[in-house]
Amino acid sequence: MSKKPEMTRKAALAVLHQFSDAVSWQWFLPEVSPERKALKDEVQTALRTLDTVVHGTRASCYGFGFGLCQICYLRYSASTVRLKGDPSGYAHACCTSCLRMLDDEGRLRHIEQVLTGVSSGVLVPPVTLRSRRKAVYSCSH
Ligand SMILES: [Zn+2]
Repeated sequence: MSKKPEMTRKAALAVLHQFSDAVSWQWFLPEVSPERKALKDEVQTALRTLDTVVHGTRASCYGFGFGLCQICYLRYSASTVRLKGDPSGYAHACCTSCLRMLDDEGRLRHIEQVLTGVSSGVLVPPVTLRSRRKAVYSCSH
């Protein structure tokens, strides 16, 4: 009987992303040394490198509507969300499964649906909310 790995490659990578997010606030402390800041950049590059190995080249793309869901890091994103109680106010790329979960839990403050095309994405702000359009970068993958 062969022993199965404890987690899939996607799950392992997702844990590393979530760990990185959990400690990322420390990078912005004033006493952080230049070496630590350089390490932060290396960690982000390492994660992006693994993203493309595990999920495919589209995971390396920037911009909302491209790349991985920033909630679960298991699937590609399809929307951009802002969460209630998130002091950063950052928009997070979000997959359809996480969108449903966050909606069920009543944690969504704002949603922008992203329509992805072959090489670019279009953000469609909800008509009831005044929202600034986010920059969308084209993706060649
Ligand atoms: Zn997700």
